[in-house]
Amino acid sequence: MTRRVYAGGTIVDPVLGRTEADVLVEGDRILEVGSGLDGDEVVDCSGKFLTPGLFDCHVHLAYTHINLWRHIHTPLSYNFYLAIGNMMRTLECGITSVRDASGADLGMKEAVDDGLVPGPRMQISLAMMSQTGGHGDGWNPSGIPVRLATQYPGRPSGLADGPEEVRKKVRELVRAGADVIKVATSGGVLSPRDEPTHAHYRPEELEILVAEAEAAGIWVMAHAQAAEGIKNAVRAGIRSIEHGIYLDDEAIELMLEHGTYLVPTLVAPTGVEKAVEAGAQISEAALRKAGEVIEIHRESFSKAVAAGVNIAMGTDSAVTPHGDNLEELELMVDGGQTPQQAFASATIEAARLMGVNDDLGSLEPGKLADLVVVGSDPLEFSTLKSGIEQVWKAGKRLV
Ligand SMILES: [Zn+2]
Repeated sequence: MTRRVYAGGTIVDPVLGRTEADVLVEGDRILEVGSGLDGDEVVDCSGKFLTPGLFDCHVHLAYTHINLWRHIHTPLSYNFYLAIGNMMRTLECGITSVRDASGADLGMKEAVDDGLVPGPRMQISLAMMSQTGGHGDGWNPSGIPVRLATQYPGRPSGLADGPEEVRKKVRELVRAGADVIKVATSGGVLSPRDEPTHAHYRPEELEILVAEAEAAGIWVMAHAQAAEGIKNAVRAGIRSIEHGIYLDDEAIELMLEHGTYLVPTLVAPTGVEKAVEAGAQISEAALRKAGEVIEIHRESFSKAVAAGVNIAMGTDSAVTPHGDNLEELELMVDGGQTPQQAFASATIEAARLMGVNDDLGSLEPGKLADLVVVGSDPLEFSTLKSGIEQVWKAGKRLV
């Protein structure tokens, strides 16, 4: 097996810290980190920085934008070709691992794993489970169902009501390849007929949902914006709160007690406004709600940071353009995280959230060789994207 040494650079790593060291890679794994290492091949990193591959724990790789009008005029399969570009733009951010929060299916994941198309490795959720009238219900006042997620055999509907339907839906999603179950425990922004402040699903439904996921050995992620929806999710044992817009003190206490992660997606609400300014057609209700949640979202995030809640980076990309993912890091720092903390949220903490920290999230020997070569200081987030020169995933160069 070829041994490749990344020589002469400065490592910026959430576990190893900032240090001048070489990284020796054999095959798809990191063999050694130290000085004066030898290899068959050398990647000259002098004057440059090396970081582990980054994570985005909330993306929608199969969606490209939120313009519903454009969406209904796009052939279904055209979206898969668009997804190839979405995945490449994600890799160009140094992001080599993602959790897809609905949209990507098993075919996309396997195509990437088999090397048919370059993309980040992914944990997929397929569809968002939602109650009738919830965030995942594509019902509109006209009676014309329009949703970003067209359903087909590999991407079933996520609608289910009552414990028994919920139980069956989890099994159906697991059968179709879900690595994680996504559920909406509150209303949301982009759906026209619900409110972010309302809790969705009752505790007995969430209890069965989590039990079925656990039986399949997988975790649950909750789109949760309302305080009550967040608390119901945490009490039910859901692993991560996505967005977490209306976090009150009790919700934060519960998250600390349960070790629940927050995946804030701070860029998403402003992304909705920007998309509309750029001509995207969405419902007026969705635009109103985006405006209403921006400030409180940022306040909630700051409270969670101050309290020490586990935080993993996620963006909701597709709501914002794929490739803009790293803007989230700047907002996380604005919200009170140190650059080191935000960087950890996009590496080792994200790996912990996804249960892959034995293999990913840092440059420790034995882990998969996901490396990013950066020409500028990686903790200067405003220049991180433009500074990225090379992206390697499991020992293969993709960017
Ligand atoms: Zn999302």
